Order: sequence, then structure tokens, then C-alpha cells
Amino acid sequence: MVLECLICHRVFFANKFVRHLGSCIPKQVGAGKTVQYVLIRARSEDFGHFAYFLIPDSKTLDDLDEILRNFWLNCCYEHMSAFFIRKEELSMDLELRGFEPKSKLDYMYDFSYTTYLTIEVLKLFEFEPNPDNLSWILGHNEPFEYICDTCNKGKAVQLIPEGRGRGFFCQTCFAESVYGDDEYEEHYCLPVVNSPRMGICEYTGSKNLD
Ligand SMILES: [Zn+2]
Ligand SMILES: [Zn+2]
Ligand SMILES: [Zn+2]
Repeated sequence: MVLECLICHRVFFANKFVRHLGSCIPKQVGAGKTVQYVLIRARSEDFGHFAYFLIPDSKTLDDLDEILRNFWLNCCYEHMSAFFIRKEELSMDLELRGFEPKSKLDYMYDFSYTTYLTIEVLKLFEFEPNPDNLSWILGHNEPFEYICDTCNKGKAVQLIPEGRGRGFFCQTCFAESVYGDDEYEEHYCLPVVNSPRMGICEYTGSKNLD
């Protein structure tokens, strides 16, 4: 698994990425007032998606919740969400600076069709912030490829959502299916997107990744 560093745009193996960030991030240092940032990795153990975020340590779990929602999760409306450590729910007001490096949190979004994430606090960084980039997405998994269930060849671009018999369609098979008919399309199929929320609850993708 490889990913691109979104600061320097070089490509790294996932297991070398955090070490790379340790040298890449400090190169952003400028003169003047420095700010503490925390490096956070969010992972979907169920589907294998992962992403790295650099966030000022004065931000709260509530802010992290919003970052995760915008990046991966926002679907039909505002679902409930929560962070936990060893099954104990945490206050959304907790600041990220309160978590030691190597802290591990569990996160749940939507308590009925739940998307679970593991949140790890990896490192602290101190440097001059760029006001345009108060929190940064530093890297994420490459999109996974799914194969069409009809022709077993084409790269899937649409799927029938969870709960309605999941299946993937390539562009050709999709256009030829009843789902490709305008009357059905919007209601029965969802786009293949790079998110653990794919195929659930009308999720159509993140603006960050387009
Ligand atoms: Zn880099
Ligand atoms: Zn929803
Ligand atoms: Zn096909």
C-alpha cells in the first residue's frame, strides 16, 4: 500500500509514512509564533481506509468529529457520533492536547448503520502555522478498485447500496441495467467512492477527495 504525501507530493509505502512526516512537516517551520499540532491517523478496520490529519492541539474532539464527517462521512443528515476509550464515551469538549502520543480512540458515526473508525494520536509537532491551512490532510489510502459483478471485468463505478442487495456495476453494465434508466438511477445506486461510508445511507463522496 502506497500513499502520496500531500505536503511534498512524493509517494511512500504506508509503513514509512509517519517517519517521512517527521522530516517533512518541520520543513514548514517559519519564524515567529509556533503552534502545537497533533498528527492523527484515522482507520477503518472494516474496510481498510486510512488518512492522516495534522490538527492544532487546541482543537477539540468536536472539531475532529467535523473533520472526519467532511472528509469521509456526511451522508443524508446529521447523524450522532461519539468517541470512546475502552468503551467509555468521551466529552466532545476535550482538547486534542489532552491525549498522549499513542493514545487510541474508537469512533462511531451513526448509531444504526454505524461506521466505525480507530483514531490514533501519533506525534506532536510544533511549528509556525500557515493561516490558510489550520488543519491539514497529509495523506490517505489510494482508492480501492472494485470489479463489476455483472461482467466480472469492468472497473466498478456504481453500486447498489447496503440493505438492497449489494452489487457493483461498471459504466457499461450500469448504463444497460434498469438502474441506468433515469427513472431508477438516483434512488437505487450510489457512486463508488474512496470512503468507509461508501454504499451506506445515500453517501455520495467527499468534496475533499474530488
Ligand atoms: Zn512529504
Ligand atoms: Zn445518513
Ligand atoms: Zn460490467
